[in-house]
Amino acid sequence: MKESLGATGLILNEPLLWEKGKKGRCGFSFPRRDVEPCPLDEELTGEGPDFPDLSEVDVVRHYTRLAQWNFGVDTGMYPLGSCTMKYSPKTNEKQASLPGFTGAHPLLPSSLSQGALKMMFEFEQYLNEITGMYATTLQPAAGAHGEFTGMLIIYAFHKKQGAQRSKIIVPDTAHGTNPASVSLCGFRPVPVTSNEQGILSVEAIAEIMDQDTAGIMVTNPNTLGLFEENIQKIAQIVHAKGGLVYCDGANMNAVMGMVKMGNIGIDVMQLNLHKTFSTPHGGGGPGSGPVSVAKHLEPFLPVPRVVEENNTYILAEDYPDSIGKISAFHGAFGVIIKAYSYIRSMGPENLKKASQLAVLNANYIKERLKGTLHLPYDRPCMHECVFSDKHQATQNIATLDMAKRLMDYGFHPPTVHFPLVVPGAIMVEPTETESKEDIDQFIETFKAIASEARENPDLLHHAPKSCKVKRLDEVTAARKPCLTG
Ligand SMILES: *Cc1c(COP(=O)(O)O)cnc(C)c1O
Repeated sequence: MKESLGATGLILNEPLLWEKGKKGRCGFSFPRRDVEPCPLDEELTGEGPDFPDLSEVDVVRHYTRLAQWNFGVDTGMYPLGSCTMKYSPKTNEKQASLPGFTGAHPLLPSSLSQGALKMMFEFEQYLNEITGMYATTLQPAAGAHGEFTGMLIIYAFHKKQGAQRSKIIVPDTAHGTNPASVSLCGFRPVPVTSNEQGILSVEAIAEIMDQDTAGIMVTNPNTLGLFEENIQKIAQIVHAKGGLVYCDGANMNAVMGMVKMGNIGIDVMQLNLHKTFSTPHGGGGPGSGPVSVAKHLEPFLPVPRVVEENNTYILAEDYPDSIGKISAFHGAFGVIIKAYSYIRSMGPENLKKASQLAVLNANYIKERLKGTLHLPYDRPCMHECVFSDKHQATQNIATLDMAKRLMDYGFHPPTVHFPLVVPGAIMVEPTETESKEDIDQFIETFKAIASEARENPDLLHHAPKSCKVKRLDEVTAARKPCLTG
C-alpha cells in the first residue's frame, strides 16, 4: 500500500467516562481538613450528581485518546474554501495570554485600562489603513454579526435621510449569512445572478437597482475565489440611485495590502479576524468581525468608541446617531489582541506578501489539477479555486466520494457543494502557510484518487477506509441527531 498520512492502528477506541468509571476510584486527594466538620443543611444532603468515579490516569488517557481522533491545522493541511483555515503563529496566542490582558476586567474605569484602550485604538487605525476606510468598530463577535451591524448602519443611514428603503441586492454566489443578515435587519434580499465568468455584471445591477433598494451586499473576492472586477462601476450605479455598498470582507486574505476597499466604492465592510488575522477557528468560536465604514457612515457606528484626548484614551458614548451597543463590553477582546499582535509582527510588507502567496498557491493548485478535475471558471483566481466532479461523474463518482477518500491519505477534505452555483463543487483554499512540498503532496493525492475513480470506483464509494470513523449515514445523522453521546 502506498504510504499515507492517514490513521494508524494505534488510534485506540474510547468508551464514555460513565462506562469507564468503577465505584470507589478516585483521581484526587483533598488536603487534610483543618476545620471542624460541619454538616450540610438537610436539603443539600441528598443524592449527588451522577459523576463517574475515575482515577487520574483514566481521565488523562480518556482525553488524550479523544484528542488523537481530532484533526486540526496543527496536524495537517486544512484546505477549506471560503473559510481561511490558515496556520496561526503561536506567538499571537502568547501575547493574548499576557497577564495584563487576561487579568483586565471590562468594568475597570478607563483610567486603569489605558494599555488595553490604546491597543484597541491603534488596532482600529491599522484596520482603517488595511481597508482604506475611515473608522472601525471592534464590537461584532463574528463575520455574520459584522454583516448584521453593517446592515443596521445602512438602515440608520437611510432613516436619517428620511427615506427608508426595503431591499438589498445579494448575488447568487453569496455566503448564506448574507441574505440572513439582510432579512434579520428587516430588508428583503433581492438575488442577482452572476455572469458566465462567475462575477457580477454591470448590466445586471443596473437593471435591478432602484430607489427602494437600500444597497448591495457583495463579497469581494467572491466565494468562487474571483475578484469582482466590475465593482467600481457597480458602486457608481448603486450610489447614483442613493444606495450604499456593503462588502463582505471574509475573503480579505486574498487582497491585504493590494486592494483598499475604501478606494473602490465600498461604504461599509466587515473583516473576519478569525479568518485573516490569526485566530484559529472552527467548532464555533471565538470569532471577531470588526466593521469599517467610510466617513459618511461614521456617526452611526456602535458606542462606546475609543477616543484619544491628550494622550489619554477614553470610552466615548456621545454619538446621537449611533446604532447603539451591539455586544457586551468591547467585543472578543482575546481575538482582537491576537490580530493586533499578528499585524504588528507582520508589518505592511509581509501582510501583502501573505496575500500574494495565498493567491499564488491557489493558482498553482488550479493549474496543476485542472486536467484532473473539471474547472468551471478557467481564469486566474484569488485565494481559492473551485473545481467540480463533472469528469468523475461519468464513473459514478461524486464529490463526496473523493472528499472522503482524501481522509485516507491524511488530508482534511476541502469545502464541498459550496458555492451553490457550481453543482458538485470542490472548493480549495490552500492559504499562504502551506509549503510547496505539502501542496504538491495534496495535488498528487488528488491525482491518485482520480486514477482510483477510474480503476477501482468501489474503493471510493466505501471511503474512508483507514479513519477512526468510516462512512457516516449523513441523512440519518441530520434527521435523527444523537446529541447525548
Ligand atoms: C465565513 C464567512 C462568513 C461568516 O463569517 P462567520 O464569522 O462565520 O459568521 C460570511 N461570508 C463569507 C464569504 C465567509 O467566508
